[in-house]
Amino acid sequence: MNRLFIEFRDPLLGIIVFFVLVFVITLVSYWWGRYKRKEDSRYLSHFMNMFKTMPTQDELKTLLQTNSISMQSALIMAQTYDSHGDYEKCIEIYLIMIEMQSDVVEKKETLYLLGKTYFKAGFLERAQEIFLQILKQFPRTPKALHYLLIIYEKMHQFEKALEVLEPLEELGVNVTKEHVYLQTVSIIRSAEYNVQEKGAALVALYEKHHLLSYLIFEYLFRTQPSLAWKSLDLSEAERIGDILWNAREAEANLDIISSSRFLRELYSAKGSVMLAQESSMFEFDVLIKLNMADQVGATLQFDYLCNSCKQIYPFAFHRCPNCHHIDTVVTEMLLTKAHVEENNSLQ
Ligand SMILES: [Zn+2]
Repeated sequence: MNRLFIEFRDPLLGIIVFFVLVFVITLVSYWWGRYKRKEDSRYLSHFMNMFKTMPTQDELKTLLQTNSISMQSALIMAQTYDSHGDYEKCIEIYLIMIEMQSDVVEKKETLYLLGKTYFKAGFLERAQEIFLQILKQFPRTPKALHYLLIIYEKMHQFEKALEVLEPLEELGVNVTKEHVYLQTVSIIRSAEYNVQEKGAALVALYEKHHLLSYLIFEYLFRTQPSLAWKSLDLSEAERIGDILWNAREAEANLDIISSSRFLRELYSAKGSVMLAQESSMFEFDVLIKLNMADQVGATLQFDYLCNSCKQIYPFAFHRCPNCHHIDTVVTEMLLTKAHVEENNSLQ
């Protein structure tokens, strides 16, 4: 017994035992780490595959029923597909979620998301059915009413769109602008009135509300330039700068142009008349100086900013495609190289 203790007290044996223990622990740690890394990588690739290959309808149902993925994960998956423009897969997931949901409020939220996706994908009639289904059970849902209004507008069912404004107003939403907008668009698209009647109705609407200058003057300058010049609201000239820049030269009213600094600078920049020597607006100033030096080679092009969501588009809009607000378009000028030499003289 004593001999054994003596051997244990042997410092050489102690060192050997210590190094053996260190070696064993290191080996175990290494293999455990390797195993964990493999497991993690397998889980990650499985998770990624869920996004690459869409589970079938039955597989997804099973995954939700067995709680393998939560409703929250299914929602994230649907929204990922939605943000990538894969509306078909997104719709499939929402439909399964709706089938599985028992809570009416949760089901309403998923129905709303489904309606929005149908709307984005261009399935207006299906989106309309979904929003009507929500409103049947929950009539006081402004966001569903709002989408229904836009759907009717896109389908040119202006009477129905105007009807949607009533419940929205009852819910405390200010619908004045929407009301004037729907009236304006329905006049422009009407088959009952001729161009002159439409022009007179639009001028009357503008004089009453002073809204939708871009929409109304775009139509007037396109169809009845003399009425447009006669009714032009000079305070809105900058906002419709692109329309005035592209207005037919022969119709331009020199008296009105002379009465507004913005118009004097715009038409001097264009080279039609020389009523300004300089401008506080950089683009106009450059073009005026070029015209004075008889240098042609630059012109203007326009971008369109939504004053509400700040999105920029290369085309003009009346209802922002992104935030759906109306009358928020702001025209932005850009100097660009002129490709075709034009004769811009008013004389
Ligand atoms: Zn916007």
